[in-house]
Amino acid sequence: MARIKIDQLSTVYPNGVRAVDSLDLEIADGEFFALLGPSGCGKTTLLRTIAGLEQATEGTVSIGEQDVTSVEPGKRKVAMVFQDYALFPHMTVSENISYPLKVRRQPKTQQREVAERTANSLSLGGLLERRPGQLSGGQQQRVALARAVAIDADVLLLDEPLSNLDARLRLEARTFLKRLQKEIGVTTVFVTHDQAEALALADRIAVMESGRIRQLGSPREVFGRPADTFVANFIGSTPMNLLDGTIENGQLAVAGAKLPAPVNLPDETKVTVGVRPEYLTLEAEGQGITGTVSTIENLGVSSLVTLECPDGSLVGLTVREQHEPAIGSTVTAVPEQGRLLLYSKEDGTILG
Ligand code: ADP
Ligand code: MG
Repeated sequence: MARIKIDQLSTVYPNGVRAVDSLDLEIADGEFFALLGPSGCGKTTLLRTIAGLEQATEGTVSIGEQDVTSVEPGKRKVAMVFQDYALFPHMTVSENISYPLKVRRQPKTQQREVAERTANSLSLGGLLERRPGQLSGGQQQRVALARAVAIDADVLLLDEPLSNLDARLRLEARTFLKRLQKEIGVTTVFVTHDQAEALALADRIAVMESGRIRQLGSPREVFGRPADTFVANFIGSTPMNLLDGTIENGQLAVAGAKLPAPVNLPDETKVTVGVRPEYLTLEAEGQGITGTVSTIENLGVSSLVTLECPDGSLVGLTVREQHEPAIGSTVTAVPEQGRLLLYSKEDGTILG
């Protein structure tokens, strides 16, 4: 069993920055787990604290059944891939991959055998004698991964491993990484600031901000029902509509329209109304938000239509090309059942 359990963990740097703040988290054995959040929110620090490269100020880290909080990094059975890969430039691919085995004083023949086997499984077979400088970014990334999986670690920690790749290669590497992780079944913590990457790869996601977890859940949960407006803003390729609303006579007044309120709240309550552009559909009639089409942006398979509503608010929705309305026309956007979310005006948390 190589689950990771983190209890009341804080990591404070000598300059006083509390990069990880009283954090609780449990990651299951074999899980592919993503730490997602904006730059500076503490992702790398949390990962390095799990690896033992940073010392916890308070709280504990357990791997499997063992409390490793005071165990040195080399004895934690953890493998880490750094954002910049940190390959040894003067060593060949083969030497880079087998380096962890060399440090552990494994026999040369075994070092060679593991390097060959791992390289083959990561499509690096023909490159064993090259040096990192003679490889593409994607190949270097795979060498770094190969070096990490060459030892049978209990836990694999990946710090933005795809962020140095160009867009096309990143998609390929993403698929590759997902397959590899399922094959070897190692508990994996994957750090990214790219919400699409986290949604695509992870079994579960923790959305972080300022050293804390804002939301923990499956990709479907964090996309479909963000726990607060921070997460709502952060997740999604097209930004979620966040509009001012008021409860009036049991109904929701928003963008000049009256809609059924998704939860019962007292009259006059002011709320933030969240609805994703993907969950609004254009209808000839129906209970929805009516506005004038002001812009249309091509997103490829769909288009993002922006409506200007009577109260001045702007509402985005996506439509297929064949359903694109004319600029300047008046249309109605109807939210799908259960897709309208209400958030507190005070602290941004979800009300229903
Ligand atoms: P992320 O990986 O999410 O971008 P980091 O964990 O790198 O975030 O950083 C979290 C916070 O800790 C930031 O405010 C950053 O400036 C600070 N920080 C990171 N490393 C150090 C360090 N070695 N010394 C002092 N502060 C640091
Ligand atoms: Mg980082």
